[in-house]
Amino acid sequence: MRFRADGAMIVCPCCRNDTFDKDYRQLNSRGATFFGLDWANRNATILVCQRCTHIAWFMSEPERWDD
Ligand SMILES: [Zn+2]
Repeated sequence: MRFRADGAMIVCPCCRNDTFDKDYRQLNSRGATFFGLDWANRNATILVCQRCTHIAWFMSEPERWDD
């Protein structure tokens, strides 16, 4: 799947591929809690490059790119 963030198409910084698998990870690590960050228990969206498996993290969910 292709995605965009704030209107810009997301391209892998490692291999320039533009197709990703979307998943979610919780941001509730002990380190984040220790520092009192208010997003510590929020979910982040991750996009895993389908070619090289590089992971890109997003605090707001990227939109699907629908041609
Ligand atoms: Zn890649």
